[in-house]
Amino acid sequence: MTDRRSELAANLAALEQRILAACRTAGRDRSELTLVAITKTFPASDVRLLAELGLRDVGENRDQDAAPKAAACADLSLRWHFVGQLQTNKARSVAGYADVVHSVDRLRLVGALDRAAADHGRTLTCLVQLDLDENRHPAGRGGAAPGQLAELAAAVEEAGSLVLGGVMSIAPLGADPDRAFARLAGLAAELRSSYPHATMVSAGMSGDLEAAVAHGATHLRVGTALLGSRPPLR
Ligand SMILES: *Cc1c(COP(=O)(O)O)cnc(C)c1O
Repeated sequence: MTDRRSELAANLAALEQRILAACRTAGRDRSELTLVAITKTFPASDVRLLAELGLRDVGENRDQDAAPKAAACADLSLRWHFVGQLQTNKARSVAGYADVVHSVDRLRLVGALDRAAADHGRTLTCLVQLDLDENRHPAGRGGAAPGQLAELAAAVEEAGSLVLGGVMSIAPLGADPDRAFARLAGLAAELRSSYPHATMVSAGMSGDLEAAVAHGATHLRVGTALLGSRPPLR
């Protein structure tokens, strides 16, 4: 506890080694990747330490935790990424602090985020979250069916206060992440053929970042490997 800063510094150094090794294997340059520190369940003081260690991108999955943390760290000029399932009634709050929403999965949410961003006088980058579970589990990990990508992308693109950033996915539980991320790479390429500026591919977490790097991820969302294990989900 007293030396949380050294602990985070050591975790970050080890994580950077993993990312560099994955880049070497994939023949990619480290500069093509942005590391988003997923700080959910950890205090704002950890966000501050990570900022001191040079991290600029922070992600959260629950508005009720993210909003006060972003406010407590407003002086740091970080980029806040919202990565969790988002209810339309939370869009207004999220649009007040988030720069990027990774979890756009339905048309109603596109409308709500656009109105909310406009009211705040802000522009939000949106990623379409795709569910790559071939069996489409009812209790899956969120996201739209791949067949809905074109329609969602068009809606984001038309919205005046939203910018289409690209795609996001979470490898389905129990599935081969290589297979899932290869599929995501194909969908991302299809999206870029219609919208060349939509280059973001948010994929890869603590357990599967190597597979994500191999398949063209641009944004890695890493929690545990950086901050340690979280208390069990509430
Ligand atoms: C928690 C979370 C992560 C980070 O997961 P780790 O396995 O702790 O690295 C990434 N993406 C999303 C959407 C999350 O909710």
